[in-house]
Amino acid sequence: MIDEWDLSATNLHRIRNRRYQVAVLPVGATEAHNLHLPEGSDVRHTTWVARRACELAWPRCESVVCLPTLPYGVDCNLMAYPLTIHVSQANLDAVVRDILVSLRHHEIRKTVILNGHGGNEFSPLIRQVQSDLDMHVFLCDWWKVGHDKYSEIFDAPDDHAGEFETSVGLALYPDLVEPDVAGSGRTRPFRFEALRRGWVRTSRDFSRAGDHCGVGDPSRATAEKGRAYLDLVCTRIADFLVELAGTGIDAHFPHEP
Ligand SMILES: [Zn+2]
Repeated sequence: MIDEWDLSATNLHRIRNRRYQVAVLPVGATEAHNLHLPEGSDVRHTTWVARRACELAWPRCESVVCLPTLPYGVDCNLMAYPLTIHVSQANLDAVVRDILVSLRHHEIRKTVILNGHGGNEFSPLIRQVQSDLDMHVFLCDWWKVGHDKYSEIFDAPDDHAGEFETSVGLALYPDLVEPDVAGSGRTRPFRFEALRRGWVRTSRDFSRAGDHCGVGDPSRATAEKGRAYLDLVCTRIADFLVELAGTGIDAHFPHEP
């Protein structure tokens, strides 16, 4: 069976007979994830979430299309770890912008960037693109979608390759997770109170924060926790995609009429 929500799978014969309303562009990264998770974690889990959400949305609207995932992200603060691949935000923005221009050319005026990597920041690009082009772009950092339920599923807050991301790995690609070699995920706190309190921020160099690049304890991860969070997130994203696909663009979109 050919999934018509999957751009990499469908074909011109089918696309010509469709009127897609919403495109989903997943963006990941290729970087170290503590010692025990695959370098492609962000590509793998973000691709899975995007595909699952579109698969769930499709029978209800038949007008969403999932694009292939961009596999690289902004990773200059993880370059201490071998084979992490860094693409600058400016170059990533340039590629994403070209993709958005292509979508607009093909009359798709609603796009969701599904981001799976904390180092990627697309808000300035979206602000500019919406000013330059007659289209609407939405940003979803997928790992944040279920944060209101986070503490019902996980034991502790997470950041990078800890309980949350390891649980997701155990749910989606258990053969690629090596819990036995995982580092603790402990990091050094900031030495300044303003940074600890959060009213001054900086950008972390992961190699200064800890001995490995994990931030968050992976030892309490389970596949069940991963599945519970993924189910919640994909359901919510699918609902949004259906709503977005079914909403026409008027003078006040995306605000209330
Ligand atoms: Zn990650």
